[in-house]
Amino acid sequence: MNAFLSKKAQGIAPYVAGEQPKDKKYVKLNTNENPYPPSPKAVQALRAFEADSLKLYPAPDSFALREAIAAAEGVRPENVFCGNGSDEILALCFPAFFDADGTGAAFADVTYSFYPVFAAFFGIPHTIVPLEEDFTLDLAKLTATDAQGLIVANPNAPTGIGIPLSEMEAFVAQNGHRVVIIDEAYMPFFGESAVPLTKKYKNLLIVKTFSKGYSLAGIRCGYAIGDEQLIAGLERCKDCFNSYPVDRICQAVCAASIADAEYFAKMTSLVVSERERLSDGLRARGFFVLPSKANFVFAKHEQKGGREVYEALRLRGVLVRYFAKPRISEFCRITVGSAEENDALLAALDDFLRK
Ligand code: PMP
Repeated sequence: MNAFLSKKAQGIAPYVAGEQPKDKKYVKLNTNENPYPPSPKAVQALRAFEADSLKLYPAPDSFALREAIAAAEGVRPENVFCGNGSDEILALCFPAFFDADGTGAAFADVTYSFYPVFAAFFGIPHTIVPLEEDFTLDLAKLTATDAQGLIVANPNAPTGIGIPLSEMEAFVAQNGHRVVIIDEAYMPFFGESAVPLTKKYKNLLIVKTFSKGYSLAGIRCGYAIGDEQLIAGLERCKDCFNSYPVDRICQAVCAASIADAEYFAKMTSLVVSERERLSDGLRARGFFVLPSKANFVFAKHEQKGGREVYEALRLRGVLVRYFAKPRISEFCRITVGSAEENDALLAALDDFLRK
């Protein structure tokens, strides 16, 4: 390792994003992108965008976009924070809500693997709470920790399991003395968002994204919703790092996209019905499939290993995600694609399982 690097840069284990392959064209079911195109209104906003305006910095507080998000989510713009992807917002949560010399954050062992990376990067202690045998999260075990704040992905990744809103509300209420961050990246495919609870609970922060439900992973935009004081804390930390994380094109396209509720509802229900068809197709081929509320399924074959399935699919031009990690190394995470993509996946599996 280069001697000019800091100890942190030398020692840190970065998050490994899913592969964006360059060698050939794959049926790409490995990074939970939406198979359907962005809203026609978003595309129209992109086409109408005035390139000349790029000579000016964007609004540092993304105000017009926050207004559009607030209108769609039924909150006030003061309750909305925008970032360069929800990853950036989740990262900012660590310096905003956790002390390096405190009890830190608590989250599950099998959840979004960026959380421990953020914690390590910002020097925040963290407590890991194991999921149950069936991969459900016992919220009481998170509540029983002495952490400064709690983080839950709902639906969880990579399991896809969702926690009903009523259970989430009881959890948020029980933890009124500390911040509860709910990562709702996959909530469009579940439909039990805790955003309405932010009006009642000052300790609740919801983090959402345009990447999955709005088919805009390429534009990099996420948002958080919560009490004004939590939002102001994020804003302060953002302004210690980057005043303009959300560019002009992104603000215009995302504002148009979130206003198109009709298109969003239609595309989301297509993904949900394909998810059920894909889950059934996998079960019929000998897979154990966790009940998913997300736009991906987490599945393990009765006879074949997780890596073997991943490699066999890759060889046949289909990319899925494999994690060589404790508890989940026999599983593959498969993004719900279009009907054609899901058929291609099932056909590739048939070819592999016949051999
Ligand atoms: N949360 C979870 C649980 C995710 O799986 C992802 C996508 N990798 C994100 C947040 C981040 O999404 P984005 O930065 O594209 O908004």
